[in-house]
Amino acid sequence: MQSKSWLKAGLFAALATAAFAATPARAQGSLVMYCGVQEEWCRAMSNAFEKETGIKVAMTRKSAGEIYAQLKAESSNPRGDIWWGGTGDPHLQAAEEGLTQEYESPKNKELHPWALDQWKAAKHRSVGIYAGALGFGFNTEQIKAKGIPEPKCWADLLNAKLKDDVQVADPNSSGTAYNLLATVVQLMGEDKGFEYLKALHKNISQYTKSGAAPAKAASLGETAVGIVFIHDAVVFAVQGDPIKPVAPCEGTGYEIGSMSIVKGARNLDNAKKFYDWALTPAAQALAAPAKSYQVPSNKASPVPAQSPKMDQMKLINYDFVKYGSSAERNRLLAKWDKEVKALP
Ligand code: PLP
Repeated sequence: MQSKSWLKAGLFAALATAAFAATPARAQGSLVMYCGVQEEWCRAMSNAFEKETGIKVAMTRKSAGEIYAQLKAESSNPRGDIWWGGTGDPHLQAAEEGLTQEYESPKNKELHPWALDQWKAAKHRSVGIYAGALGFGFNTEQIKAKGIPEPKCWADLLNAKLKDDVQVADPNSSGTAYNLLATVVQLMGEDKGFEYLKALHKNISQYTKSGAAPAKAASLGETAVGIVFIHDAVVFAVQGDPIKPVAPCEGTGYEIGSMSIVKGARNLDNAKKFYDWALTPAAQALAAPAKSYQVPSNKASPVPAQSPKMDQMKLINYDFVKYGSSAERNRLLAKWDKEVKALP
């Protein structure tokens, strides 16, 4: 009897220890990643991290505006741990709204100043992981068939012969398209910028959900022009499709692709592990083989040979603090919905 109760107590203790140990072990074993770049790069990153650490990654790819909206919707019961990739503006808005949390990675000292500028602007809640310039890609065969000069400037996209033959994403869902909206406002001034977007609307066949989709459409000849990050057009040009990437002559904006840890992340330690790893040259080198040609943020990361040469472009002095602020982003999106998208 005595020995039985000892056995029972021992068993109970063993079970309790196992249960106690099992909880943190399970919690340490996974990471929920919201990924804002192209699917192929998202998969390469989640697979490599899983392989290196044994941490199981549940990854979903979405556009930047959608991830921001998801974090907001889930804020009382956060499900994500790390938001990796996507344009910096919605990352900054999420930071301001307390949807993400502060973190200082030991890798920060290895980063380019522009990546740390994002970290400072976000009050340590987001960091730059890559940079890329905005522009467009045009289908060379379609442009030739229309008998118009090759477009080189934003102004060229208003040519009436491009009616229903330009695509760009919807800035509500897409970080790329919001980058265009903010770029045009900064480059031309708000009134002229909106006049431009209204005139451009006449040539838009559809506003896609994802920012990179118009590059694929232009490479296939489904549209004559796709407004995208230039590196998204390069992807198809290097594989021999009839698409030419353009850095617009008037000047253009750019993105600081970013990463943030979700406030209330259930797997916080793993989110930090991923964060530190994602800033290493080894992790950043996974981009080019996954056909992503952004400029990486670690100074020691190799810049892919295919990356558009940002230092040879006329880049605006993009005000990330202003255009990533909650008030400004909400205001511009509402104005675009009312004054541009609602047009026939
Ligand atoms: N594709 C690439 C290669 C990007 O660099 C980015 C932005 O960081 C995106 C797509 C953004 O996607 P979306 O405009 O759908 O938010």
